Amino acid sequence: MSAEQLIQYISWALFLLVCVSVTLQAVRMPRRVTIDIALFFITPAVIISFGIETVLGVVQPGPLLNSINTVLFLSMAYMLLRLVDDFSDVPAWLMRGATIALMLLAAGAFVQPLPAWLIVLMVIYLIGLLMYSTIAFARESRRSSGVTRRRMQAAAAGSSLLVLIFVLATLQLILPGLNSFWQGLSDLAGLAAAGCYFLGFASPRWLRRAWQEPELRAFLGRAARLPRLIDSTAIIAELEAGARTSLGAPNARIGLWDAEARKIYFPLGDPTYALDPNEPIPAARAFRNQQPAFSANIPLEHPEYAEVSRKWHLKAVLAAPISAAEKRLGVLVVYAPRAPIFADDDLALMQLLADQAAVILESRALLDEATRVHAREEATRLREDFLSAAAHDLKTPLTTLIGKAQLMERLAQRNPSAPADLAGLQLLVREGQRLRQIVLELLDAARAEQGRLVGARTPVDLVALAEEVCARHSVEHLSCTVESSAPVIGKYDQFRITQLLENLIENGVKYSPHGGDVRLKVWSEAESAYISVSDQGIGIPAQDLPHIFERFYRAANVDDRQFAGMGLGLFICRGIVEQHGGRIDVSSQPGAGSRFQIELPLTPVMEDSYA
Ligand code: ADP
Repeated sequence: MSAEQLIQYISWALFLLVCVSVTLQAVRMPRRVTIDIALFFITPAVIISFGIETVLGVVQPGPLLNSINTVLFLSMAYMLLRLVDDFSDVPAWLMRGATIALMLLAAGAFVQPLPAWLIVLMVIYLIGLLMYSTIAFARESRRSSGVTRRRMQAAAAGSSLLVLIFVLATLQLILPGLNSFWQGLSDLAGLAAAGCYFLGFASPRWLRRAWQEPELRAFLGRAARLPRLIDSTAIIAELEAGARTSLGAPNARIGLWDAEARKIYFPLGDPTYALDPNEPIPAARAFRNQQPAFSANIPLEHPEYAEVSRKWHLKAVLAAPISAAEKRLGVLVVYAPRAPIFADDDLALMQLLADQAAVILESRALLDEATRVHAREEATRLREDFLSAAAHDLKTPLTTLIGKAQLMERLAQRNPSAPADLAGLQLLVREGQRLRQIVLELLDAARAEQGRLVGARTPVDLVALAEEVCARHSVEHLSCTVESSAPVIGKYDQFRITQLLENLIENGVKYSPHGGDVRLKVWSEAESAYISVSDQGIGIPAQDLPHIFERFYRAANVDDRQFAGMGLGLFICRGIVEQHGGRIDVSSQPGAGSRFQIELPLTPVMEDSYA
């Protein structure tokens, strides 16, 4: 047996084998696409069986056999066009034209002898359809992803190999000297085409799995970090993309079960579309029966959904329930405008993906619950902090106030004509003011929390304002100075900016028990105004710096008895700055001093939100 014969026999065997397998498949699942695939492989199988029978002498070669073979070749090209139509769209006029042309040419094939013009027409028909199929499959492969892309590439390669066989046959006519060479090449191309079509249209399960593996692996690799994505919408988007690429389908959607409304909602599809679990379509069936479900042709099987099917290009649908143990979370739906995208064994993969989605959504729910518990604890802690700080800070001046007032009352009762105790009255006023200050701070902290600190803005010269506030705080042992080269004017809430400067300067003075200067610098750069407030006081330990703007936070180096305060001033300062669209930073050297720097936009941002 020569090598050429061997190749020919192998390709015959391959075609026959594939033919048997796809025919069985079509019998098991008689759908348009399985029948088309079977017919596409049966045609060459019949041609081959005629070939074998001729070799064996069962059938006599002759004009009738030639005519039948010609019809079979033409039908094969036609069947290929039908497959293109199954996997993508062939214009209706082309499909109809090709059917009529096939009938005419098939009738013409029995004319003896065949006129040359008819042969030319047949060749044009064959090559035309093959080239069209090659291009259509190649285009479809570019549009699709994953396993579908590979299947379409194989189909395109198979069609281009058939075109090649025709080119080789032409070369055989032009250069008959190299006949056996052309024949050998042609047999090889035939074998390869058979292999390609097999991979494209009847890809075995193990190969589909191998093709799906890279996408699936990539998806599972990403899965671990999915629960930590910003919000559940981002998680659902990733899960849908993972299912889409793993199955090579154009669309995937996750529907979430709303136990109260007793409906399934699709947050990323049409969030208003509510699927009732009692509906007959696969998504509802999968959820109801807690089992994957498949429909090859929604508009055909459920005509009442024709509209939805057209709107969402949803014809073939795979769905699997997303459930964590007994808890029903929702449903994963993968759909395509054409049925052949899916195979039966994809249902198992779907369930795997849905289970993965369940794990991820449950982990996210647990994380959310943990965050909620933490937030609740944090709120309780803050309330407690607030109460103890407020109680503590209100208690001291109140005790002094009441004690002093009672003493003055007793003295006045005993001796009504005695002169007023001026020092005592001054103490009452001072402590009363301190109390008011604490209450105001607490109120401002609450406003800062709610983003309601900043009110109407007017043009303010920060330099003039800084000088004014500074002058009020210069005391004997400590001077406050302002350095600036030109006015810096922007639109700000003057009351709040004054409060900001006062807080920072007061802190500079308070935390500089051994004196030193508080220095302010005001300048502008590009679109921003800058203010820095520096002192040479006790400074802030490095480990406290990141928390210093937090509510009720006081650094480790301050002692309540030496430095009174609640740890709210800087929290309010940050609120004022940020609600103006700016930022505040601090740098400090413990024992050497601190420097607070504020950046404020010169042109107001978010003006309306506080106006
Ligand atoms: P309070 O001064 O009432 O404690 P603040 O919010 O104004 O509250 O300040 C928070 C903490 O930041 C202070 O307790 C102190 O530890 C530290 N701090 C603020 N300003 C200075 C400064 N100029 N020098 C040193 N430490 C400071």
